[in-house]
Amino acid sequence: MAVGVVWRQWAWPAGMLRGGRALWALRGPGAGVGPRGRGGAAPGRSLRVAAPRSSDVFRELGPALSRLGQTLREQLPGPGGWDPQWSPQSCPPPEQADVVVVGGGVVGWAVAYWLKALENQQHGMRVLVVERDPTYSRASTVLSVGGIRQQFSLPENIRLSLFSAAFLRNINDYLWVPNEPPVDLQFQPSGYLFLASQRGAATLEAGVKLQRQEGAKVALLSPSQLKAKFPWINTEDVAVASYGLENEGWFDPWSLLNAFRRKAMSLGVLSCVGEAKSFITPTEDEMQLMARDRVKYVNVRLPDSPEQQPIACAIVVVAAGAWSGELLATATASLPGGSLAPLPIQPRKRYVYMWHCPDGPGLECPFLIDTSGAYFRREGIAGNFLGGMSPPEGDEPDTGDLEVDHDFFQEQVWPRLAHRVPPFQTLKVRSSWAGYYDYNTFDQNGVLGRHPQLQNVFVVGGFSGHGLQQAPAAGRAAAELLLHGRCSTMDVGRLAPGRLLHGEPLREAAIV
Ligand SMILES: Cc1cc2nc3c(=O)[nH]c(=O)nc-3n(C[C@H](O)[C@H](O)[C@H](O)COP(=O)(O)OP(=O)(O)OC[C@H]3O[C@@H](n4cnc5c(N)ncnc54)[C@H](O)[C@@H]3O)c2cc1C
Repeated sequence: MAVGVVWRQWAWPAGMLRGGRALWALRGPGAGVGPRGRGGAAPGRSLRVAAPRSSDVFRELGPALSRLGQTLREQLPGPGGWDPQWSPQSCPPPEQADVVVVGGGVVGWAVAYWLKALENQQHGMRVLVVERDPTYSRASTVLSVGGIRQQFSLPENIRLSLFSAAFLRNINDYLWVPNEPPVDLQFQPSGYLFLASQRGAATLEAGVKLQRQEGAKVALLSPSQLKAKFPWINTEDVAVASYGLENEGWFDPWSLLNAFRRKAMSLGVLSCVGEAKSFITPTEDEMQLMARDRVKYVNVRLPDSPEQQPIACAIVVVAAGAWSGELLATATASLPGGSLAPLPIQPRKRYVYMWHCPDGPGLECPFLIDTSGAYFRREGIAGNFLGGMSPPEGDEPDTGDLEVDHDFFQEQVWPRLAHRVPPFQTLKVRSSWAGYYDYNTFDQNGVLGRHPQLQNVFVVGGFSGHGLQQAPAAGRAAAELLLHGRCSTMDVGRLAPGRLLHGEPLREAAIV
């Protein structure tokens, strides 16, 4: 039988072994159909006798070559160098990794990619991404609306988004995998248009000044300029507007996540399906060798199994999106020495509605952020739009499920939209969905850096609605911090988690 397996596996042209005669003569009984029908070896004749001598060589070589092929497929970049299908069977978690990244959303994969892209020695570092849900059914990345803008009120956020815009513009320089089709993010260039009432005018103008200082190209528009550029806008209660002239628009979030994942895996990043459940620190005995405030193992629960596998690691990156706060709380609950200060990153449910309005704004429609907080953008070119609004603080919906509240659109969002864009009075909602913001309840801003109480744990998250666009930059900043102890590409030091512990909020005014 083994001989037959070797034949099928290597599928040499029949003529290469004695005119093809050996093909059926080598098979064991019942292994296939030869000229004599099933089990065609002549009764009483030894298979070994019928086989040419070279078959022994092939029999021995076959498994060895098969193992070599498998190793090459795993190690080499390019097609065959990775398996796009995540399956628990094909990716058992390893027993150790230098860096364990918990969370395989866009942020986790961006960190993993940059770690490999920046490492000094090829294959020097074993990076593992642990993701509990390979379908991404609740991940923020795939439920987001895909926008990128430069219009923020903090220099750190402007820097992150400027870096990301350049990265997205040249994405194939970074994320193209040899012999694969180029990455296509379906990028739609379009400025964000922030509208401010008299109350918000000074903040908006200060923001634009800062954005320009940081290198962003943003125009300030008076109500009459606004009306001239976008005649369909009701400018009645608008005092001033800011409009991005470059580096803004929207793109397909799934394509970015997938591109990071494919490239990272082609560079040797490992992945496994499982849920990080707990962090283990050194025992009393080990404390002489290792500091106590270090995570030594991440315990990962395997899919459909009560088992947890400990993964020994040097560094842990918490990139679990909206669940980062929960992860740190549960994973560290049983650490000796009491619990850690809570990480204030929680899920906040946000609805997105898609509507049709053939009389609405045309191709020049920007990504509009209204004075009321409602937003919308064009979706395609057939009179479709999508948008929504964050609920007022104190009126947050339950996060237990991803059901959509349709009354919220009818009562809160639609009146605001119809006031700003009169043709929207006749819009028809076609579909909707909900997703979770990875919301930082402390100051609605990203948290990026070493955990103040766990030496080898890094947190990258809490972007509160702008993590997709900032993932390319945040991933790079995190990788630099990990590898070199400081981020040299951009100054984002103030985003370090220490501010949470010291009660020093870094508030971003332009949260949508
Ligand atoms: C409606 C909506 C609109 C948005 N619009 C925009 C936008 O226009 N522009 C923008 O920049 N951002 C936007 N965002 C925000 C953006 O989507 C997020 O900030 C970003 O996707 C966060 O990426 P992430 O990788 O941290 O999180 P996720 O994509 O949620 O990935 C985290 C992953 O961690 C996994 N995980 C969690 N816990 C564990 C564990 N214990 N073990 C293993 N795995 C775990 C989860 O399964 C998940 O897949 C929007 C978000 C929403 C909800």
